[in-house]
Amino acid sequence: MAGNTPPVGVLALQGDVREHLAALTALGADARAVKSPADLDRVAGLVIPGGESSVIDKLSRIFAVREPICERIAAGMPVYGTCAGLIMLADEIVDGIAGQLTFGGFDATVRRNAFGTQLDSFETELAIPALGEHPVHAVFIRAPVVERVGADVDVLARLDDGRIVAIEQGPLLGTAFHPEVAGEHRFHERFLQKVRAAS
Ligand code: GLN
Repeated sequence: MAGNTPPVGVLALQGDVREHLAALTALGADARAVKSPADLDRVAGLVIPGGESSVIDKLSRIFAVREPICERIAAGMPVYGTCAGLIMLADEIVDGIAGQLTFGGFDATVRRNAFGTQLDSFETELAIPALGEHPVHAVFIRAPVVERVGADVDVLARLDDGRIVAIEQGPLLGTAFHPEVAGEHRFHERFLQKVRAAS
């Protein structure tokens, strides 16, 4: 499996980079930190970690990876974004800071910090049929929700109240929660399948 998978990257500007590298490595992937356009050139897929999307946005401009990432996404590179990473993949965001940009890709609107200060963080079990019968233990940390999806976006998971927390659109995968901190590797495996399919 791993031998057929080209190298993949984790965007390493800010956020829980190590956890994603560990999850991908545990699956046998050649996973590398991506901090520069040259690093990006060497990978066939990218994970955008959780963290703070406004900081990832600013650093991506400072480190000159913003434009190359946007171009690769437009060209069909598989990308998996968790939490802040999902925000970075949305074509449209709500409650961003002034001037906040995303890389885009998902025909979706994502609201930052959707659970307010009362419920900053929580954990729950989510039924996600696309990943098999075992529920996903989902850790939400100042998490976003997906408020609108276009016709080409598949909804993978919702909370009990119906709010959308995991989506997929072709080579793109996004979760409002953090599988990488819960020992949940099925999303990373799904991302690696997309990388193999694209290469
Ligand atoms: N609230 C953060 C943001 O707006 C996301 C939090 C997270 O990634 N855990 O980017």
